[in-house]
Amino acid sequence: MSSTYKIITYGCQMNVHESEKIAGMLESEGLTPAEEAEIADVIVLNTCCVRESAETRVLGNLGILKKAKERKPDMKIIVCGCMTQAEGVAEKLKKRCPFINAIIGTHNLNKIPVLLRAYDKKTQIEITEEQGINEKIPIARTSGINAWVNIMYGCNNFCSYCIVPYVRGRERSREKKNIISDVKQLINDGYKQITLLGQNVNSYGNDLNGKTENFPSLLRDLSALDGKFRIKFMTSHPKDILIETADAIAESDKLSRFVHMPAQSGSDRILRLMNRKYTSAEYLAKIDMLKSKLPDVGLSGDIMVGFPTETEDDFSDTLKIVTATEYNNLYTFIYSRRSGTPAAVMEGQVPISDKKRRIRELIDLQFAIGNRLAEKCVGNTYEVLCTEYKNGKIIGETNCGKAVTLAGNKELIGKFINVRITENKNSKLYGVNTL
Ligand code: SF4
Repeated sequence: MSSTYKIITYGCQMNVHESEKIAGMLESEGLTPAEEAEIADVIVLNTCCVRESAETRVLGNLGILKKAKERKPDMKIIVCGCMTQAEGVAEKLKKRCPFINAIIGTHNLNKIPVLLRAYDKKTQIEITEEQGINEKIPIARTSGINAWVNIMYGCNNFCSYCIVPYVRGRERSREKKNIISDVKQLINDGYKQITLLGQNVNSYGNDLNGKTENFPSLLRDLSALDGKFRIKFMTSHPKDILIETADAIAESDKLSRFVHMPAQSGSDRILRLMNRKYTSAEYLAKIDMLKSKLPDVGLSGDIMVGFPTETEDDFSDTLKIVTATEYNNLYTFIYSRRSGTPAAVMEGQVPISDKKRRIRELIDLQFAIGNRLAEKCVGNTYEVLCTEYKNGKIIGETNCGKAVTLAGNKELIGKFINVRITENKNSKLYGVNTL
């Protein structure tokens, strides 16, 4: 019987996709997926360190795996991902959890098969600062008709609360021809929705020949490929999204009208402290540009409350930007200290009681906005891509990122159908297939 593996993934979509690459490497070594971590021969923890809570969960899981390894001593435990690349963490992990077989940094993922073969009883650490792009890692995709494609890695922005640039390195764009060839292959393989991934997709190509290999030109080239498919992308930094990007989207119905563009705060003072490099007026001007070029745009964003020194006035500016933007979806966060970032040592940390009150107010505001926008969809017909079959229903997605539930059978998965929205229940849309 072949050896089995289990990957436990923490954090964002980038990590979920990275786990597909880890799975691809393990399967090339002859391993097969295991149902449960406790019975797997190889367990990979693909970690996140954007929030301290994710780190705490990793440590909790390692405690459980220690017991599993006592029962199954030949189990191999590998820890990789952002947490391992943060300063001093690998050594600390090695000391605290000597039962880990390998600790691998974000730039050394391709070493997983080698480390497995050269497995040693002592914890091996493979972490370098060298940043590159490895085009040769196989990918075992697990996401049905959806596929993710990295177009770039790293980030140059150094937002003062964020650890990503320290653990993922500087921006590195993949060559356009490699991305196009991947997407072409995915379309041929039957994938219908392809999401381009990058910490800041709008700066794609700045490190290449930014004139011809930029994000709008990538979108245009991808939308020219044959077939019926949809291209999505995330994340957009407000300072970098260009009018040309909106033009490229407007020209093609293969490009999604869903834009995730985090504001983080509506207070110019807080935005400066966050090192976001735009003002609330500049953010709203970008939103206006998107709405005028793409009247059916679906917007989502991230807002953080309780950043150091945030006052009631700052928070009220945040409520104003949320009201003016009208997000369809909003991801809301309470600021928490992330050691290794400039914000972690700022004076004026906000009491947790204020943070909790503010986030409740923000969630209530967003619920009312989202519900009002959803209500406006009732009676309209949208082209919907059927993505999932759950509890006897089909879940689909419109081209502007709205989720819709409707009656239908599994055969509809992967099909584009026209759906008339018949009901909005607390921001959840329901519809009927009009073919
Ligand atoms: S843009 Fe800012 S928040 Fe996003 S990954 Fe880069 S540093 Fe972090």
